[in-house]
Amino acid sequence: MTRTAPAGDDHNVVESPNGDGAGKPGGRPLRVAVVGAGPAGVYAAGALLDAQTPVSVDVIEALPAPYGLVRYGVAPDHPKIKSVSTVMARILASPDVRFLGNVTYGVDLTADDLRRHYHAVIHAIGSPNERSLAVPGEHLEGSFAAADFVAWYNGHPHAVPRRFLQARQAVVVGAGNVALDVARMLVTDAEALVATDLPDHALEAWRAAQASDVYLLARRGPAHAKFTTPELRELTALDGVDLVVDSADLALDPAGEEIVESNRVARRNVDVLREWADRGLTGAPRRIHFRFWTRPIEILGSERVEGVVVERTTIDAEGRLVGAGPTEKLPAQAVFRAIGYAGRALPGLPFDDASGTVPNVEGRVVGSDGYGTYVAGWIKRGPTGVIGTNKSDAAETVRTLLVDAPMFEPPAEPEPEAVTDLLERRGVRYVGWGQWLLVDEYEVASGTRTGRPRLKVCSIEEMLDISAG
Ligand code: NAP
Repeated sequence: MTRTAPAGDDHNVVESPNGDGAGKPGGRPLRVAVVGAGPAGVYAAGALLDAQTPVSVDVIEALPAPYGLVRYGVAPDHPKIKSVSTVMARILASPDVRFLGNVTYGVDLTADDLRRHYHAVIHAIGSPNERSLAVPGEHLEGSFAAADFVAWYNGHPHAVPRRFLQARQAVVVGAGNVALDVARMLVTDAEALVATDLPDHALEAWRAAQASDVYLLARRGPAHAKFTTPELRELTALDGVDLVVDSADLALDPAGEEIVESNRVARRNVDVLREWADRGLTGAPRRIHFRFWTRPIEILGSERVEGVVVERTTIDAEGRLVGAGPTEKLPAQAVFRAIGYAGRALPGLPFDDASGTVPNVEGRVVGSDGYGTYVAGWIKRGPTGVIGTNKSDAAETVRTLLVDAPMFEPPAEPEPEAVTDLLERRGVRYVGWGQWLLVDEYEVASGTRTGRPRLKVCSIEEMLDISAG
């Protein structure tokens, strides 16, 4: 990799005297490491393959399993969204792509190692950190980050079992798709999940679950909500669940009117919510209550969550969100924070704390490392968009990389075996694609025995044992 960007930082670069001609038709392959085998990383590998220039891509993943949030973030009752893993598998199975699972960047392979073995690196590690509400009581037992609940019901190997499902009343804070996932899963009957890949430990907990009321708190109005309409509308199909919306909450403020005028998703969301408000209740045993212009100001309880004090909000003359008077105590034994994710700084890369992203221009990392270092996905743009958004995002990064390619310095050890030799010398039990397929087959076979698409192996040790054959 070259370390310095050319003056002017323009894209019309000519071949650098340092370049080794890699990636040129008929030439040596361009060696690229992609860190992260979630949607952004795998789509980046796919975009490199599509470039029709000789490439040799290693997708380095900390877990033994590929697919990132598709496997560990998408809810089990969304099999259609999860099926994008089939497309991802095709990319990872390409002869020009090598999957290296159970390899952690910064631990098993350092930034210096990657410089020695690859022309370029694309970091696609997502936004793994939770965000804080910063209200009293946030750390009581029963107050959860939505991400921890999601990881647990998806069988993530690092998930910590908690009493996620023992509350009759729960508060979900946030008005995005993660909040919808959490609220929907909380009121979903176990029987509706038996044919999904929900792990056995979670299914057992669902069978004993007793949520009757879930309060979804949106700190702004319905037009400002971040839901996507199909995800909102699908709540209509939940069995035994009433959707409680107060029509007074749906009156639009001037900013809301403007959003609804110009944004089709917001307009459709408001339409769906109005339909629900008009429809009234059926007396179903479970309810999701939508509370707009409402935010939590304190979580009550001595050891465990016993309730949540909420206040009404409004937007003041300066456009700031402020408290607007009456407070109310909601009964709750659990609180889920679904207020977005934040990125994490990576060794050897600059980091912008305010946005939680790595500063970049069209995917090229700016600051310390310059050319040869790229980002894609949430660590590049922040935790926004649906899975498909990562395809165009990764394609942009790869376009930038290919423009820069003539400037790359030849890596000292470009042979693919040099990387695996190094991992072996370090005693890293890396999982290749063929080995992952053994885990995949095992999971599908275990699922088939119980009428499910798969039963995930939830421990890293067990995955490694199965992958060893
Ligand atoms: P998100 O879409 O950014 O929503 C976060 C929500 O939390 C917003 O309503 C935000 O309100 C609110 N919030 C933030 N800080 C808050 C605070 N301190 N107090 C109260 N509310 C607060 O994030 P997300 O739901 O985590 O989703 C992340 C991305 O994954 C999104 O792009 C989402 O669409 C995607 N996703 C997609 C699916 C799917 O397609 N099925 C499923 C899950 C996630 P403000 O707007 O006022 O900041």
